[in-house]
Amino acid sequence: MTDSYAVIGNPVEHSLSPWIHNAFAQQTGEDIAYEKLTAPRDSFESVARRFLAAGGRGLNVTVPFKLDAYDFADRLTERARAAGAVNTLALQRDGGMLGDNTDGAGLVADIRENLAWPIAGQRILIVGAGGAARGALLPLLEQQPLRVHIANRTAARAERLAREFARQGTLTGGGFEGLSEPFDLIINASSASLSGDLPPLSERLVTPSSHVYDMVYGAEPTPFMAWAAAFGAATSDGLGMLVGQAAESFMLWRGVRPETGPVLRELRVQLQAR
Ligand code: NDP
Repeated sequence: MTDSYAVIGNPVEHSLSPWIHNAFAQQTGEDIAYEKLTAPRDSFESVARRFLAAGGRGLNVTVPFKLDAYDFADRLTERARAAGAVNTLALQRDGGMLGDNTDGAGLVADIRENLAWPIAGQRILIVGAGGAARGALLPLLEQQPLRVHIANRTAARAERLAREFARQGTLTGGGFEGLSEPFDLIINASSASLSGDLPPLSERLVTPSSHVYDMVYGAEPTPFMAWAAAFGAATSDGLGMLVGQAAESFMLWRGVRPETGPVLRELRVQLQAR
């Protein structure tokens, strides 16, 4: 029997998740159906319950429902608890609902496997202190970087986040001013690129041997990538993170790990042809 999954969000029309999961299903021979579900902002729970009552086995959850999904889950993985948000719901054999957060693992998998950039022993700068930065912290710290600094427009938010995760590694946080030493890996986890903005960072942070990752993706390099490339750094957008987090969800649901490389390459071609 075909098992049903969906991505739930608002807006969700432009989601690439159905395409990605259908590509995974084809690659692995898994029999699944995957659809998009739009829910009114205050109706996450009723829309999710209706989908599950009709036989749905799991959900990907996107903006603005990751906190609703966190509350909806009966059990949480450690990384979901650390992220404070859920992007994947999986129906369990006993009827309970497991909440996971695969965003950070998807980011780490993309950096390590697709880009082959090192994380262990590196000096990492995370720009932004919202949900995406929070979700990335535990998976990144597990890779044993030398140290991690979080820089955010609202400095107090970065300081708070650094304090919260300080037990897991060498972690500091603050604003954009006063940062002047170079970093090996810079991850833009802010939404600045979505509005064409560039956080006011010193050019001394980036060198030709830096690796610079923007979680935002699109057909064109983001302003953050263009800024870093001008100093000779290697850059990537976040399309591989999107595919990586989807692969982690697929693994949770189906127990099979799809190969992300071919799916990412094909998706990139499609995005550029749009
Ligand atoms: P949040 O709304 O939780 O946080 C936004 C963050 O961006 C805050 O730190 C905010 O700073 C900062 N910010 C917003 N505008 C600017 C600006 N103009 N200049 C500097 N900083 C700015 O969003 P999320 O954390 O959920 O998402 C962040 C980004 O990550 C989004 O663009 C999203 O598309 C992307 N993302 C990508 C994924 C992928 O699979 N590739 C997965 C998840 C997220 P302040 O605190 O001062 O407001």
